[in-house]
Amino acid sequence: MGGISRRHFLNGTLVAIGAAGLRHPLWALAKTNLAGVAPEQLLLGVDYYPDQTPETLWEEDARMMADFGITNVRIAEFAWGLMEPSEAKFDFGWLRRSVDILHKHNIGVILGTPSAAPPPWLTAKYPDVVEVNAQGEPLHPGGRRFTCPTNKTYRRLSNAIATEMARTFADTPGIIGWQIDNELTLSPSPRCYCNFCRAGFQEWLRAKYGSLENLNQKWGTVFWSQTYTDFAQIPVPLPSGGDPNPGLALDYDRYQSFANVSFQNEQLDILRKTCPRHFVTTNNVGLVDYIDMHDLYEKLDFVSFDNYPGFFEMLLHEQAKGGGPISWDYITSTIAMGHDLGRSLQRKPFMIMEEQSGKAGQRTFSPQPEKGQLRLWTYQAVAHGAMGLNYFRWDTATFGAEQYWHGLLNHDRSKSPGFEEIRQALKELKALGPEVLRSQYASEAAVVYDYDCGWAAQIQPAHPSLNYMAQVTSWYTALSAGHTGIDVIVPGADLAPYKIVVAPLPYVLSEAQAERIRNFVRNGGTFVGGFRLGAKNEFSQIVRTPLPGPIRDVMGVTVEDYVPIYSGKPGVKFSAALAGPDGECGIWADILQTSGAEVLATYTSGGHAGKPAVTRNSFGKGKAIYIGPDLDGASLARVLRNLATSAGVQAPVELPSGIEVTVRQAGGKRWVFVLNHKPETQTIPLPHPGTDLLTGQSRSGSLELRGYGVQVLQIG
Ligand SMILES: [Zn+2]
Repeated sequence: MGGISRRHFLNGTLVAIGAAGLRHPLWALAKTNLAGVAPEQLLLGVDYYPDQTPETLWEEDARMMADFGITNVRIAEFAWGLMEPSEAKFDFGWLRRSVDILHKHNIGVILGTPSAAPPPWLTAKYPDVVEVNAQGEPLHPGGRRFTCPTNKTYRRLSNAIATEMARTFADTPGIIGWQIDNELTLSPSPRCYCNFCRAGFQEWLRAKYGSLENLNQKWGTVFWSQTYTDFAQIPVPLPSGGDPNPGLALDYDRYQSFANVSFQNEQLDILRKTCPRHFVTTNNVGLVDYIDMHDLYEKLDFVSFDNYPGFFEMLLHEQAKGGGPISWDYITSTIAMGHDLGRSLQRKPFMIMEEQSGKAGQRTFSPQPEKGQLRLWTYQAVAHGAMGLNYFRWDTATFGAEQYWHGLLNHDRSKSPGFEEIRQALKELKALGPEVLRSQYASEAAVVYDYDCGWAAQIQPAHPSLNYMAQVTSWYTALSAGHTGIDVIVPGADLAPYKIVVAPLPYVLSEAQAERIRNFVRNGGTFVGGFRLGAKNEFSQIVRTPLPGPIRDVMGVTVEDYVPIYSGKPGVKFSAALAGPDGECGIWADILQTSGAEVLATYTSGGHAGKPAVTRNSFGKGKAIYIGPDLDGASLARVLRNLATSAGVQAPVELPSGIEVTVRQAGGKRWVFVLNHKPETQTIPLPHPGTDLLTGQSRSGSLELRGYGVQVLQIG
């Protein structure tokens, strides 16, 4: 787009904005009673880097942003070196000037605390703040996210800059909130194994277990002569001769999650105390499982995270070593699952702190989003419960590791290919109105996402190809194929709001979680458990009772055998209740023996031909279904859809592939978001007439949706 002159561009922007006659509806914020944050404050913005931009351009940037329709920016999260050029010498003059200019243009500011990237004076003076990776090697300064979450010196220095920022900007007009750190889960080496972490782990274990006797018993340290006689002897799971104790390894994952959360919460305490009128959040990297997201967001005002579907495509391409086409169905479904987890953590609207706005990458460029995709991804987030988005980023850096990460302006400050499309999306979001954006996402089904299961399955996957995230994604995809609203919940979540709860690879099951499931089913819920249900307790010990351990009574079955599969795919035949073509079992089969449950499918080949594969038990007022095989996607989708319908989940409509539908509702009104993720035009049936919220036109019968098109229909 180098041919467009700056004057031409600015004139065009102003004319279009003027013609649009924008109205500014109210929009839900987590803390609408905050002074300095008007209730109509929208969170529609960009991530902005005045620290990387000549000051002579700041005024122009702010004016262009305001013209563009932006209501807020996030700034400063990587600017530690400019804010504290040497230890305890602070300089916020530049930041204040930038905030003042933005405020003058009615642009709210979210300030980022800068602890993701310490300046060189810090690491030169305190070299032991660096993280040690899983091979026991220290990381080196020069990038970002290379510090230890436990290190007290690093916490002290991070808290000091956060404190000075908070004091300086607590009453500054224009500041609306804070982002703590940046992408705490992002690192090629996400866990630290340094001596400070080892000492922190030992302290955490002392608090958790009370005595060494208890710890030794819960971990089973008598195995391989690992009985500890002093907490100081307990190692971290660095390479040894043979694998670590599974209980120790699982606790270490929990400790690292705890260390990151407590690192964050020290800054949170400072911000709460000094800036009580500002909201506080942090941005996570979507579906990355190194930190328990429930714990991370528990004390924050709302969930926010970063969303880059096209960058994800590039990563998948890289992982596949360039072989084979990348499935956009998979990407779409994974992104939707991330949104559903983000919303479900606090059961309220979330924010996208960084949304893709063009080609994105560090060493390589992700593909240029197709025309319509940027708007589509914006709507996908809103369809799943987003209350706001910041596009990453305003302009594009000409230097540094993210030179290839494109913003709304190109390197030469001409308009990016997605510029007009994003402007259109912002205009539409403002016009949707507060009622829609405050409404609740409708979900009658839930998928359990259990960090303990994920971590335990990483430590001992049971089959080399078995991966927790892949299993959860596959079950989520299967269930969402029925266009059912889905929450993605952590194990402690209240199950009562759901008609059906499904738990893929529920490998670690505590007595408390078993009891929650028992009560849910007893009171009329439908619970669907996958293979390896209840195989381990929360200390990562295999249970001493027949499987599925503490939940055998609810499921009405005993696992007769559990079978890793390395060659061939045993067939699965379904009963009339799940009628459909025979299925295939992938890498795992739990062979079931019923004790009261009805058989819904049997294995048809291999040594266990004729044995039960899928069962359904009546327990109390509800049903408990055990899915023993690692079912192929089509069969799993049919089975889960059938079970959801039996559980009373509203019968979904038949829709073509690539169409995503979600519902948000408030009072008696429902808003149906229809998204076409395919490049071609698709026609879908409309079960109810509705009004197109963007055009005001009535729609009934069927709906034609162009490639990457979006419709928001108001029903009732
Ligand atoms: Zn460490």
